[in-house]
Amino acid sequence: MGDTHTMGSLLSIMPHDTPPDLYQGRRYHAYNDWVKRTHGGRLQKVSIDAGFTCPNRDGTLGIGGCSFCNNEGFTPSYLQEQRLVSDQIDTGVNFMRRRYPESTRFLAYFQSYSNTYASREVLAERYAQALAHPAISGLVIGTRPDCLPDDVLDYLAELAKTHLIELEIGIESCSDAVLTECLRGHDFACTEDAIKRAATRGLFITGHLLLGLPKETPESLIEGAHKLAQLPVDALKFHQLQIVRSTRLANQWKADPYSIPLLAPAEYINAVADMLEHLPPTVRIQRLGSEVPPKLRLSPDWGMRLSVFPALLEARLAERNTWQGKCHPSR
Ligand code: SF4
Repeated sequence: MGDTHTMGSLLSIMPHDTPPDLYQGRRYHAYNDWVKRTHGGRLQKVSIDAGFTCPNRDGTLGIGGCSFCNNEGFTPSYLQEQRLVSDQIDTGVNFMRRRYPESTRFLAYFQSYSNTYASREVLAERYAQALAHPAISGLVIGTRPDCLPDDVLDYLAELAKTHLIELEIGIESCSDAVLTECLRGHDFACTEDAIKRAATRGLFITGHLLLGLPKETPESLIEGAHKLAQLPVDALKFHQLQIVRSTRLANQWKADPYSIPLLAPAEYINAVADMLEHLPPTVRIQRLGSEVPPKLRLSPDWGMRLSVFPALLEARLAERNTWQGKCHPSR
C-alpha cells in the first residue's frame, strides 16, 4: 500500500498538465475576465489628477523622483488641462463611452503621483469629490508603499464597505539592489509590510511592476515572483521599462545609451512568462505593458501597440508549454 499522505503531498507540488479552468481558455488569469465574471461587465478606469505630490519629489525623501519617473508619461493629456475632479471625470467618462460603448461602470483612477500622501482629512475630501460624481462606482488609488500608514488604511477599509476600492501599490521591483539603484527611497520590506497591513483590512491590492530596471536580472525577477507569491496580492500590472524624457534615466541614457540595457519585446514577454510560472493562479493579471506617448519616449521604440501584448504572451506561453502557476506549489 502506498503512503497516501506522501502521495498527496507529492501531487500537490507536481505541475498539472493543463492550465486551470479559471483562466477561461487562456494561459494566465486575466483581470478583465475576472471582472466580467464577478461584476457582470467591464469596470472602466477614468484617470484623474487630484493634485497630490510624492515624498520622493517634495523633498521629504528626495526632489528628483525615482530615476524612471516623469508623471506626464503616464498621464492622459486631458488631465494636464483641467483641475476640477468632476471636469476630469466628465471628460474621461465621455472618452471611455466613445471608445468602449459597452462601458456602464466607472472607477475614478487616482493615478498621478502618490494618492495617499496627505492627511486623512485631505484624502477624504478629494476622494469624496470623485465619489460624488454620478458615473463613479468606486476608486482605484495608486500610491507608494511608504505612504500607507494605518489610519489611512483604516479609512480606505471603511470606504470599501460601501464602494469598490482598489489599492494600487507601486512595487516596481522586489530587489533591494534595484530599488536602491532607481532611487526609490524604500526597500522591499516596506512593500511587504504595506501589502500585509492592507490585506488584513480586506482591501483589494494590485501591485505595479516595472521590468527591465538597471540591476534587475532574469534571476532576480524569478526570485521576485517567489516573494510576491508569498504575499496576499490580488492582482499585478506588468510594465516594460521605457526611457522617458526629463527623467534621471533619460540623462544617463543620453550620456551613454549602452549603460542601460533595454529589453527587446521577446525578452520582456519571456520575463513576464518566467514570473507568471511562479505566481499563484489566484493572482489576476491586470496589465501586460505600457505605452508612453512617442513625444515623451526616448527609447525603446518597439513599434507595436499595447493591444498585441496578450496575444504575444499567449503565444510564448504556448511555445514553452507553460502557464501562470505551473511551477507554483499550489498547483
Ligand atoms: S514613480 Fe511615483 S514615487 Fe516615484 S517619483 Fe514618481 S510619483 Fe514619486
